[in-house]
Amino acid sequence: MMMKLADLIEENVEEIAALDAVNGGKLFTLCKAIDIPGAARTLRYYAGAADKIHGTVLKMSKGLQGYTLREPIGVVGSIIPWNFPTTMFFMKAAPALAAGCTLVVKPAEQTPLSALYYAHLAKLAGIPDGVLNVVNGFGETAGAAISAHMDIDKVTFTGSTEVGRKIMAAAAASNLKPVSLELGGKSPLLIFDDADIDQAADIAFRGMFYNKGEICVASSRVYVQEGIYEKLVKKLVEKAKATVVGDPFDPQVNQGPQTDKKQFEKILSYIEHGKREGATLLTGGKHVGQKGYYIEPTIFTDVNEDMIITKEEIFGPVMSLMKFNMVIEMGFFRTMEEAIKRANNTTYGLASGIITKNLNVANTVSRSIRAGVVWINCYTAFDVDCPYGGYKMSGFGRDFGLDALNQYLQIKSVVTPIHDSPW
Ligand code: NAD
Repeated sequence: MMMKLADLIEENVEEIAALDAVNGGKLFTLCKAIDIPGAARTLRYYAGAADKIHGTVLKMSKGLQGYTLREPIGVVGSIIPWNFPTTMFFMKAAPALAAGCTLVVKPAEQTPLSALYYAHLAKLAGIPDGVLNVVNGFGETAGAAISAHMDIDKVTFTGSTEVGRKIMAAAAASNLKPVSLELGGKSPLLIFDDADIDQAADIAFRGMFYNKGEICVASSRVYVQEGIYEKLVKKLVEKAKATVVGDPFDPQVNQGPQTDKKQFEKILSYIEHGKREGATLLTGGKHVGQKGYYIEPTIFTDVNEDMIITKEEIFGPVMSLMKFNMVIEMGFFRTMEEAIKRANNTTYGLASGIITKNLNVANTVSRSIRAGVVWINCYTAFDVDCPYGGYKMSGFGRDFGLDALNQYLQIKSVVTPIHDSPW
């Protein structure tokens, strides 16, 4: 049934892409090329895992033998955000279904349409009624009801840190259901002097401005080593100025509107805050056009880690660019140490990136950054086989990869004596 659902999604790619573009201002072409084929791939990946979930035989002492069973956790509540309505839906639903669970999915109130369409396709795929349920509604009502429900056995959530706390508290106060939280980020990208400048500019720009900056892994803190700083800044500004902002259905457009008025106003207020804090607005910063929630790709320099724009998740097209230096102390290079220290100077730990040709730097820095993923010489390189989730206040639990199945499984131990025994 999961395979059939994947086929149906592919057959209806145009219609689903249009729903996500209308609802969230996402680029129609990218939904068609990335989000929707990715959903089909996710379903097939976990469908392939469904008949390979098994426990282990235990090596027990004292005349006992035992084995474990991995059983479905039960009813899963999935509360998802608006920035990737399709990806988020299947990132949670596919492993939960493969584990044998049933689900209640609550899409974000801003982007309910594709989720309703997926419920319709699930029925066509033969998934029995009651297995994959979609309940629309607002967070404080529908979302809160899920997190406090006594008959829901687990909640998986992606969204803001603030709501993540509420969900954990509601789970604790009700039936102590386990929760997994994928929260925000303020992810660092470190670009070292030996990087190819064109490639580094491409990676940094895409890392930040993909999906109009409404992406939790956005490389919103870019640290550039001093030797290439000026050249890289120039390239990034050129890219920002060349970005076409407009109608998400127009194939010439690179950046659509922000998801809603609230998000639009929040981003503009962060930009004003950055200016007031003394950061230099290098490019962008303004509303594009007279109507719609369009914002220019925005780059700040002269920022430091104490500024609000560098500390808080903006979730919009706003990059903070910082310089790090060649530091020599007592004859030793301390450059990497400085870069690592500054990259880790955040309460978040979702994602990170390094651009360098030096293997020693790549290896050392990747082991020292406290984040759920480190992309080396790439960024936002997602794959369904690659576990994804946060350290620190970016949450806990992993989506994607075979590790995600564990979120939806219980382990039961079964023990018997080998012979008649005093047990
Ligand atoms: P949010 O966390 O309020 O919403 C995410 C989901 O949680 C939605 O489905 C919403 O209905 C639900 N929700 C809201 N209140 C709830 C409650 N009390 N109990 C249960 N569920 C509840 O996110 P938002 O307000 O739409 O966006 C605010 C900020 O969150 C953004 O500016 C961004 O910084 C961050 N965000 C992060 C992600 C991410 O992928 N990590 C996604 C969206 C937003």
